[in-house]
Amino acid sequence: MGNFIEEIIDADLAAGRETEIVTRFPPEPNGYLHIGHAKAICLNVAMAKKYGGKCNLRFDDTNPVKEEDEYVRSIIEDARWLGWNGDIYFASDYFETMYDAAVRLIKKGKAYVDDVTPEEMKKMRGTLTEPGIESKYRNRPASESLELFEQMRNGKIADGALVLRAKIDMASPNINMRDPIIYRVLRAHHHRQGDSWCVYPMYDFAHPIEDAVEGISHSICTLEFEDHRPLYDWVLKEAEFPHPPHQYEFARLNLERTIMSKRYLKKLVDENFVSGWDDPRMPTIAGLRRRGYTPSSIREFCERIGVAKANSEVEAGQLESCIREELNAGAPRAMAVLDPLELVLDNVPEDFCEEMDFEINPFAPESGTRKIYLTKKLYIEKGDFAVVPPPKYKRLIPNGTVRLKSGYIIKCTGYEGTPENVTRVHAEIIEGTKSGHDNSGIKVKGVIHWVNSRAEKADVRLYDYLLIADDSSPDFNDRLNFESLIEKDALVEEYVAGAEKGASFQFLRQGYFCRDTKESGLVFNRIVGLKDAYNKSGANR
Ligand code: ATP
Ligand code: MG
Repeated sequence: MGNFIEEIIDADLAAGRETEIVTRFPPEPNGYLHIGHAKAICLNVAMAKKYGGKCNLRFDDTNPVKEEDEYVRSIIEDARWLGWNGDIYFASDYFETMYDAAVRLIKKGKAYVDDVTPEEMKKMRGTLTEPGIESKYRNRPASESLELFEQMRNGKIADGALVLRAKIDMASPNINMRDPIIYRVLRAHHHRQGDSWCVYPMYDFAHPIEDAVEGISHSICTLEFEDHRPLYDWVLKEAEFPHPPHQYEFARLNLERTIMSKRYLKKLVDENFVSGWDDPRMPTIAGLRRRGYTPSSIREFCERIGVAKANSEVEAGQLESCIREELNAGAPRAMAVLDPLELVLDNVPEDFCEEMDFEINPFAPESGTRKIYLTKKLYIEKGDFAVVPPPKYKRLIPNGTVRLKSGYIIKCTGYEGTPENVTRVHAEIIEGTKSGHDNSGIKVKGVIHWVNSRAEKADVRLYDYLLIADDSSPDFNDRLNFESLIEKDALVEEYVAGAEKGASFQFLRQGYFCRDTKESGLVFNRIVGLKDAYNKSGANR
């Protein structure tokens, strides 16, 4: 069974109301795209694909104040990366068509020029229970409105002094239909049109016309536009666009502990709370990409959450499982030590270097094994050694044993430093326990990862959500997570140090990591943690 949009399309095709399916993704270029936009892109692209139609990328650039070319470039890049492939349009290219449509409305007595201020407009609008009040200019002759509208366009009217309003119904139960403003005077430099316009159309008037011009068959938007649909239909009918498109609404994506507003994300960037729109903590497409998410994992997420008619909040873990499952199946395994502690094997010679087989990915046996080398001096995690172990501790303790992943079982013979601050661990290999060749019958409870003396230094970044879990305040400012980034001076295998930028790995017992694409040094971003404990994946070998 398809989603409800597919049912609508199927019915339209069957009844012959539509023959070609054309959808669009219409971002306003006032910020970078986020995971919510990904849902809209995936849906529109999927519909076009399923029905052999097309999906336009259309910049809704009708508000000159907040728009920038940087955003246009990033949006194109991000939409392509997600799998969109189609034609690019700019709503501002239709300004002349919109102006003509407004003139048609005035001539028909369906629009008039008014001098209301925003405050008056608000007062006269009425409430849900009371009708609005008609403006004294509502019935001025069309010729007068036409003349004034022309003056508005020709720069003869001061910003905000006059507006063009649709003449619909001040008593409509739908407040959006109470003579909404459709044009305003505004002197602002437009990113594409420069200074050629000083009147700008309002969203509710512009959007249906943009859809009509492009021959959109199904204009899919989020639920908050449901109450605007009557106005959408009114504009197309009264401005006499043939074969008008139709609008359908679906629930927007809300993700736990995630900010889904460009305006607020921009604030985080402007105030340097994050390093930029592509900070790996950002829920932007650019941020997710840099974090190590793949387009397929995001598409899978959008597929899984589905398309509904009612708003809800999706668990953040759902997005994470999509990339985790993908990387679990495909990413090579490697070892990195995030909090290094030196361990010396005292019963091997100084130049000891023994080859071990390391499984590249136990879930992809065809990927085989690679060689790793055990040296006399190793590094293990500080947390994998305890002088005074907590209950149920399965790692190394004085006189205890543990297996080095893919290597030998070792026995701890001592340590340097104090119990609280161990500076070096001493251990011995137990002969005959080499991984894969172990007939010793010795049982150990724990397996720990390690790196050898050739390991390289790396900056490993661990991330948390930008918002704290407590969502009792509606204000994001009260919910900012000041511990969303932890940096580790880690040591990584040589194999990992040679990785290309953007390459992903599972660092055993630590999670999935991606080499940062922007930093020049060796920097790894943690994409997600491991859900399953290390030992469950059969690593005790
Ligand atoms: P924001 O509030 O983040 O600025 P927006 O809705 O103003 O978002 P637009 O650029 O106008 O951003 O959005 C382009 C398209 O993306 C619209 O069709 C909008 O409905 C859709 N969209 C935006 N946010 C979401 C979301 N969270 N879930 C699904 N679709 C979304
Ligand atoms: Mg918007």
